[in-house]
Amino acid sequence: MENTLSATLFSSAKKVIPGGVNSPVRACRSVGCDPLFITRGEGAELQDADGNRFIDFVGSWGPMILGHAHPEIVAAVQQAALKGTSFGAPTEAEVELAEMVAAAVPCIEKVRFVNSGTEATMSAVRLARGYTGKNMVVKFDGCYHGHSDSFLVKAGSGVLTLGIPGSPGVPEDIVKNTLSIPYNDVVALEKTLREKSDIACVIIEPVAGNMGCVPPVAGFLETLRRLTAELGIVLIFDEVITGFRLSYGGAQEYFGITPDLCCLGKIIGGGLPVGAYGGKQEIMDCIAPDGDVYQAGTLSGNPLAMAAGIAALKLLGEPGFYDRLNKKAEQYGAALKDIAHRASLPVQLNQVGSLLTGFFTEGAVVDFTSAMKADTNRYAIHYRQMLSKGIYLAPSQFEVAFVSAAHTQEQLDKALELTEWSFKKVGEI
Ligand code: PMP
Repeated sequence: MENTLSATLFSSAKKVIPGGVNSPVRACRSVGCDPLFITRGEGAELQDADGNRFIDFVGSWGPMILGHAHPEIVAAVQQAALKGTSFGAPTEAEVELAEMVAAAVPCIEKVRFVNSGTEATMSAVRLARGYTGKNMVVKFDGCYHGHSDSFLVKAGSGVLTLGIPGSPGVPEDIVKNTLSIPYNDVVALEKTLREKSDIACVIIEPVAGNMGCVPPVAGFLETLRRLTAELGIVLIFDEVITGFRLSYGGAQEYFGITPDLCCLGKIIGGGLPVGAYGGKQEIMDCIAPDGDVYQAGTLSGNPLAMAAGIAALKLLGEPGFYDRLNKKAEQYGAALKDIAHRASLPVQLNQVGSLLTGFFTEGAVVDFTSAMKADTNRYAIHYRQMLSKGIYLAPSQFEVAFVSAAHTQEQLDKALELTEWSFKKVGEI
């Protein structure tokens, strides 16, 4: 595969951007290659600077559930841009998107738009602390909630991929208020919540996506909901990945469990930078200007982003959208399982709806410890082999593959055929 132009761009990028990238995992270090520079995307396909084409299973890390450059989203953004790109004043589009989000997501009575998932989680935790007057945050090992200080404790995503235990620059005084406990461990959960009296909130990815796909075991979310309600602890679902992904109402609708607050991002912006946090009115009313918990943003509720979000949600709200997407993804997952089985390669396929990860390991992957048993060398080989044949996977074992509505059966079949070839080669090494 020719990659001269990407290589030239990367060497220029490294001179002016740390590591040559604006988000660490993009540098592809854990899979032992340099990043490709993308010039365009269309449907489920990407094209790089050298003109190579790929079937994309990253989907910009989740937002592109409708595929790249969806004509209706592009048109909505174009029309909004003609009227001005930012006012720093209220617009009708904000009200329209807020009404759509509140109607869709069970826990949301009021919602505040921000610009990223990181901002959403950071603000939700500040709100939970302000509302309860308590300080501690409980999270789960391997979950990622953006890069704000409180969350860089045993975090997933790039922190995990790059093997960074915490982060320099985050004061001890801040992380002493963050407790990280094992995912899917009901005993540790109950013990922690009952023993500590200063817990403001528990934040969780209802399906973990940042240590690879790790679903909640039966009863885990139910127990979490019961205990937090009993103990007066705010329960926050971080649905930055699962929101509008597993179903129109996110994981809370999919599993039938309603948190107090939730964080959204990725899909609600239709591919533009948007995050949101929302939930019970009583809690949301503590935010300024109604309450004293401060949170603000110059570009929050940006008209282009709102227009893209409204266009995306209209398409996602069409009858049968999620049934079709989840069915297609589940068939794809079942075929991947068969392939792994035939290749006699230990691969654990974890899947919920259109989120999936094949872990190169023998045992079931149910938490951070079991995810870490995956053979990252095998993944790196698989990644490079697939890339060389035109399949664009996440450059880390600890991320999910996203199936989108734009993937055609032909594209999925091609990916399956190449996976069979690649697994076989990985197994021979
Ligand atoms: N929460 C979750 C569950 C995420 O997956 C991410 C990003 N992958 C974030 C928060 C942070 O979002 P952003 O990258 O938009 O800041």
